[in-house]
Amino acid sequence: DLELKKLFVLDEQDIGETNIENIQETKKNGQELVERIICQRCFNIKHYNKLEKHWKEGIINDPRALEFLKYNYKALVIVVIDMFDIPMSIIPHLSQFIGEQHRILLVCNKLDLFPKDIKIQRLEQYILKHANSMELGINNIHLVSAQQNLGIRELAESIKKHLKPYQDIFFVGRANVGKSELINSLLRISYKTYFKHKLVASKIPGTTIGINGIPLQAFRKALLPMNTDDNLFSSAKNKFVYDTPGIFSKKSITNYLDNKELKVVIPSKRLVPLTYLLKPGQSIMFGGLGRLDFVSGTSNELRITVFSNIKIHKTNIEKADLLFSKLSQGQDTVLIPPINSSKERLLSFPKLGLALDLQTEGTHPSKAWLDIIFSGVGWFALSGISENYHIKAYSPNGIGVTTRDPML
Ligand code: GDP
Repeated sequence: DLELKKLFVLDEQDIGETNIENIQETKKNGQELVERIICQRCFNIKHYNKLEKHWKEGIINDPRALEFLKYNYKALVIVVIDMFDIPMSIIPHLSQFIGEQHRILLVCNKLDLFPKDIKIQRLEQYILKHANSMELGINNIHLVSAQQNLGIRELAESIKKHLKPYQDIFFVGRANVGKSELINSLLRISYKTYFKHKLVASKIPGTTIGINGIPLQAFRKALLPMNTDDNLFSSAKNKFVYDTPGIFSKKSITNYLDNKELKVVIPSKRLVPLTYLLKPGQSIMFGGLGRLDFVSGTSNELRITVFSNIKIHKTNIEKADLLFSKLSQGQDTVLIPPINSSKERLLSFPKLGLALDLQTEGTHPSKAWLDIIFSGVGWFALSGISENYHIKAYSPNGIGVTTRDPML
């Protein structure tokens, strides 16, 4: 009868083995040690950063898993995307799966990773354009950081405004966009209940496999109007805030990484863009995870600004070929990831395949005219002037690379 209450599920679900963790809860009169029972799976993710193999089978990559929303609910749906991974973190045609009857808030998470001087309004317009592919009637857009509590109070106000008395709230989105962390950040501002209901957020995709619901009343302070009277409050009974399982993209390069590698690749602090000048015949690399070759061009310079957490290497195309052929034979190289690797891991590390073969005109010497994104890893913003740039991009098995108009 302890914290197992936090797992409200649509269907009865056996959460299997459990474990007890001790957490420090800050009370007015000092620290208090609280015991909370969490399922063994969450315990392993949180304390050992480990997702057992058989749990990975719970991973969902078909958005039809969200169809229960289409048939059973008229809700406030909070669609979460990762600003660091646009367009891949957007689920195309989402309305076909969740239905069109909901009120929709679009929450773009991980704002903390972006340079401080970004123009928020321009970025909102940019994201909304990409979000068109979801075919949803979006009621409002919010750029937030769940981790740094940026924009969370404004989001709570917007939820208050759009929540009809009283609907369920569903957080929907791809794996790893920060749905659990966002719910935690809303709980944090309803602080009294924070530790009781806190969800487990982790870099390991697939942390949320069931549909976890927290009673809406637990968010009273943050999400229900100040003047909520007792009648209205009791009508919030049996209404929940649900975290739904993240929908996997088969196109994310991060699918190939182990937990240690994910830690290096997924950025956790503000990105510092770095600019490189490439001459024809040169190549630039995202460790062993991606590569862009400047094959030829009428100009002998291509400017590349890199947004990523990964250590970048720049060299000649021939040397890059050599590095990748060493890697594919299981030899250690300067390219990271793979990390700290056993021969076995090096041999199993995915081989690069051609993802993009592009002939394009470069229209500005310093302002970006094209982004080339490596999903989950980062992106290259291209600038420079040439009538004909010939560029090739490679990624694991040729997946997860796409182009877009420049984001920043
Ligand atoms: P979910 O799968 O959508 O529920 O995502 P999680 O809440 O488990 O978060 C996935 C990863 O993204 C974790 O490593 C989080 O720490 C990280 N994350 C979540 N929110 C933010 C954020 O606002 N900023 C940054 N930089 N990372 C975040």
